[in-house]
Amino acid sequence: MKEIEILAPGKLHAATLARLQSMFTVHLCDAGKAHEMEAGAREKIRGVATMSGISRAGIEALPALEMISNFGVGYDAVDVGCAVERGIMVSHTPNVLNEEVADTAIGLLINTVRELPASEVYLRAGKWKNNGPYPLTRATLQGRRLGIYGLGRIGKSIAKRAESFGLNIAYFGRTKQDIAYEYHDTLVGLAKAVDTLMIVAPGTPETEKSVDEAVMQALGPNGVIINIGRGSVINQPQLIKALEDGTILAAGLDVFDDEPNVPDALLALPNAVLLPHVGSASIATRNAMGALVVDNLVGWFSDKMPVTPVPEMNN
Ligand code: NAP
Repeated sequence: MKEIEILAPGKLHAATLARLQSMFTVHLCDAGKAHEMEAGAREKIRGVATMSGISRAGIEALPALEMISNFGVGYDAVDVGCAVERGIMVSHTPNVLNEEVADTAIGLLINTVRELPASEVYLRAGKWKNNGPYPLTRATLQGRRLGIYGLGRIGKSIAKRAESFGLNIAYFGRTKQDIAYEYHDTLVGLAKAVDTLMIVAPGTPETEKSVDEAVMQALGPNGVIINIGRGSVINQPQLIKALEDGTILAAGLDVFDDEPNVPDALLALPNAVLLPHVGSASIATRNAMGALVVDNLVGWFSDKMPVTPVPEMNN
C-alpha cells in the first residue's frame, strides 16, 4: 500500500505512526494546518490518521481524501458533517478502551469522594507527622446513588463496576434501554433522583453545556459530578460557581473546555479532582486503539470495509 498517501496532522501515537509509515507513505503537518501544505502534496492525500481531529477547512484542502481514521472513540474534533457531504469514510476506535476508561472513571470517583489525592499531598508535605491525621472526608461512596449520563459502551462498563460497590444505578439517554437500571427521560430528572452524576456522553451540539446550573441545583449540596466524557458537555463557568458556592459538593474531571488549558479558578478549588485527559492513557490500551486506527485504513484501502466506521456512515 506504499502508493497510498496518508496525512497525520498533529501529534500521533508513536507506535501507530511507525506502523503507518511501514505500510503507507505518510506525510506530517501541524494540527489544523493541512490547508497550509504545498498543493502538490495535499492533492495526493487519500487518507488521514488523527488524534486531534480535522476541520472542514482541513477536509476541503484535501481533494482526493477518501478516509479519516480517528484515534479515539470520541470523534467530535472531526467534521463528520463535511465528511458525509463529500462521501468521505470516517472511522473511530470503540470498545478496545471501554474497560480502561471505566477503571479511570471509578478511580476518579473514589478520589473525588474520599479526597485521596489531597490526603497524599498532606502526607508528602509532612503534615501527617506534624499535624496529625488527615481530616475525615465529608463524603463517602457508600450509599451513593449513581446517575449515568450516556449509558453506552463505556457507561455500561462503569455501571458494572459501580454495582459491585453496592451503588444504586440510574441513567439518562435519548433511548430507554432493555436493562434493569432506572431510566430518566430528562437530565434534570436524573439529577433529582441521584447524588452522583457520571458523564460519559459524547461531545455533540445536543450535549453541549447540557450539564448546567439547573442540573447542578437538582443534584444538590451532597452532589458529586464526574466527567469522563467531554469537557463541552458541562457548562464549565457554572460548574466552577457551583463548586465555589456549595451548590454541589465536589467534582472529578478528566476532560475540560479548551484542553489543555484549565482555568485558574478550577485549579484553585479544593473540592475538584483534576486529571489531564488520561481516561484511556495506558500503553496497552493506546496500542490497541492505534492498531485499530491502522486496521481501519487497511480495511478501507483493501476492500472499502473499515472495521469500525462511525455511526453516521450507516445512515
Ligand atoms: P457510546 O457507546 O456511543 O455511548 C454514548 C452514550 O451517550 C449512549 O448511551 C447515548 O445514548 C448517549 N447519548 C448520546 N447523545 C446523547 C444525547 N444527545 N443526550 C443524551 N444521551 C446521549 O460511546 P462510548 O464508546 O461509551 O463513549 C462515550 C464517550 O466517552 C465518547 O464519545 C468520548 O467523548 C468519551 N471518552 C472519553 C475518554 C477519556 O479519555 N476521558 C475516553 C474514551 C471515550 P442514547 O443514544 O440513548 O442517547
